[in-house]
Amino acid sequence: MKFIEGTRVLTAGELQVNNITRYRVTRYYRDQITNSGYYDQLKYIVEPSVKEFESAGSLDTSGEHDNTVVVGLQHKYAQTGLLLVTDHCASYCRYCFRKRMVGKKSDEVAPDLARVAQYIGGHPEMTNVLLSGGDPFVLSTSNLNEVLNHLLPITHLNSIRFGTKMFAFEPSRFEDSALPALFQRIHEAGKTAVIVTHFDHVGEISVDAERNIRSLRAQDVQFLNQSVLLAKVNDDPEILAATFAKCHQIGVRPYYLFQSRPVKGASHFQVSLRRGLEITRGINQRLSGIQKTFKYIMSHYTGKIEILDLGDDGRLYMRYHQNKIPNKIGKIFSRPHVEAARWLDDLPEE
Ligand code: SF4
Repeated sequence: MKFIEGTRVLTAGELQVNNITRYRVTRYYRDQITNSGYYDQLKYIVEPSVKEFESAGSLDTSGEHDNTVVVGLQHKYAQTGLLLVTDHCASYCRYCFRKRMVGKKSDEVAPDLARVAQYIGGHPEMTNVLLSGGDPFVLSTSNLNEVLNHLLPITHLNSIRFGTKMFAFEPSRFEDSALPALFQRIHEAGKTAVIVTHFDHVGEISVDAERNIRSLRAQDVQFLNQSVLLAKVNDDPEILAATFAKCHQIGVRPYYLFQSRPVKGASHFQVSLRRGLEITRGINQRLSGIQKTFKYIMSHYTGKIEILDLGDDGRLYMRYHQNKIPNKIGKIFSRPHVEAARWLDDLPEE
């Protein structure tokens, strides 16, 4: 197998034991990152590294198994359902936090949408469903319509969200002539269609991505973007500020900047929390008020934690943006800071 550091001969067993995701990159993305002028940063997103063999961590950093209520459906936060509709993507990111299932034949994808709909129907507090995986847009439009057949009749759902990196990997997917009718169905059911793009770097935002996003925005699809803070890829305020400014320019609201997770085989992508805060400050210094709409977030087992600042008292200040326990949402808390800490669990409780 070809790694960034050189070729290694491996058995299939070694790849499996070490949980190495298979290599897959679309021709479009390979050409885009080569021609973007940022190849030396963007190659780390999709090219395997031998560091994957040594990176310690967990394969389920956010407690996805514990929050699964029906096979394929997670219900961690009251208002949101997370539906796994596929285990495939057009290309595979080396830092994927769902390495345990993505690019493999997984038993975590929802096999029974009627059961999913029955659960959601019985939970009126759930107001939106996020289709994820894998990438929902590897499914055909008719398969996506099949998923919608189960979700659209549920009156308490007010939005259907799609999490996708397809605008980077294969933007022509959004030129499918059947897609406008799919989004129209969502609107006619009285719901909002939201696409959460996944651009980590300004070099991933191609002219084709921009054109297709503008076209879907004209069809009333709302756009947000999430990025992951990644060592060697985008751990630079200049790059992330340029990424968020570009998103803003094309009508995509910067939403989350995720602290990279301690994923087995991918923890070499993590930067320290101290460095993450320096980068966040640098981004905010470079953007206007209407562009800096993102939060620096750690998606932890206990909830989504906004990382706020490092105090003069040597403590790291944070706030729960989402938590299973509503009383905890919005509360600021702190832990003693430890140099080189990269995750909440690296900080002592007192
Ligand atoms: S597109 Fe998303 S789900 Fe697919 S490999 Fe990348 S991070 Fe993982």
